[in-house]
Amino acid sequence: LVGSEMCIRDSFPMVSKIVFGRGSFSQLGEILEPKRLNRNAPFIYFVDDVFKGNAWLTSRIPLAYDDKIIYVSADEEPKTVQIDQLVEQIILDYKERPSGIIGIGGGCIMDVAKAVAIMLNNDGESKDYQGWDLVKNPAVYHVGVPTISGTGAEVSRTTILTGPERKLGINSDFTPFDQVILDPELTKDVPKDQWFYTGMDCYVHCIESLNGTYLNAFSKTYGETAYELCKEIFLSDHLTAEDAQDKLMMASWHGGMSIAYSQVGVAHAMSYGLGYLLGVKHGIGNCIVFDHLEEYYPEGVKLFKQMKEKHNIQLPQGICANLTDKEFDTMIGVALSLEPLWENAIGKNWKKKITPELLKTLYQLSLIHISEPTR
Ligand code: NAD
Ligand code: ZN
Repeated sequence: LVGSEMCIRDSFPMVSKIVFGRGSFSQLGEILEPKRLNRNAPFIYFVDDVFKGNAWLTSRIPLAYDDKIIYVSADEEPKTVQIDQLVEQIILDYKERPSGIIGIGGGCIMDVAKAVAIMLNNDGESKDYQGWDLVKNPAVYHVGVPTISGTGAEVSRTTILTGPERKLGINSDFTPFDQVILDPELTKDVPKDQWFYTGMDCYVHCIESLNGTYLNAFSKTYGETAYELCKEIFLSDHLTAEDAQDKLMMASWHGGMSIAYSQVGVAHAMSYGLGYLLGVKHGIGNCIVFDHLEEYYPEGVKLFKQMKEKHNIQLPQGICANLTDKEFDTMIGVALSLEPLWENAIGKNWKKKITPELLKTLYQLSLIHISEPTR
């Protein structure tokens, strides 16, 4: 019922244009050309700094006039202050608003591109827009080019930012990209562990969507497609490297579409808390907590453990063995504030079932791994 209520209530925007295919990144110039407003309105490229000096990729960025590449580190997830600084720099450096913002990288860089494109056309600070439907003006034209697959950031209507008070997305109809280039070849050099963590973000999206109370036929078809692809990618032996890259890129897209019309759940809520307090990144944070959520997602966790074993992934252990009670409270506060996630996972009466005490136990289980008493 909740699912069909959602259908009546919410319309959601989609990416307007998509190109898919190995080598499609080379079409960037043709795609952007008609979008140039004038010589003084540049295209600004945010590029993951892992590609600095990588001519295979950067030589295909079609720079002209005052266009500029800004390399951005993905070591830490994007922060609201970082977005505000980037926007200010662009406004100071150019006479006119940019013709477009292009994000080339993983979820971090795509989120930077989306947030900067929004903030160039909206007053105030980016922290003021963390939440749902607070953005007033359409963003500058923006393009997403994922170089690692799993988050679904290429398709979603959010850009996740860590602000002074919370880690929360700018969710709005103006957030989705105007154009996405899906070129699986760009993901060929992703390190194995990172491939797994970001890929598992997609897997967890499917599990949380398919097992949530918000599920509806729309989300389900996308979620099931992505789930089957993930099983094939992470558990079968017959795929070539190219096939696996192509399929994971499509899984990421479908996983993102699935949660666009439903919601994520327990692992994501807890992972946001971890990210806010300890800076643990989204993909790995999801894995750390999901590993211990058998009670909520029995089948999903069982398969996750098989995937982990098959790829010989060792999750970090004991990362918050030394947390104080106050720190636990902060983390729990962030997680519990994400009400739609809990409602999707547990149902309308979730507050009766998910108490701060229970959440503390769950965090301790995930993070300490042994039942040490906390200080
Ligand atoms: P990431 O952007 O954090 O990058 C992970 C690592 O992979 C980085 O070290 C990066 O340099 C490296 N990398 C990326 N592409 C590479 C390549 N082709 N070759 C070699 N190394 C490469 O990765 P992610 O997991 O895609 O993104 C996580 C971020 O996405 C978080 O900030 C999270 O909050 C956000 N996110 C956003 C959404 C959304 O809908 N907007 C959804 C989920 C997660
Ligand atoms: Zn996620």
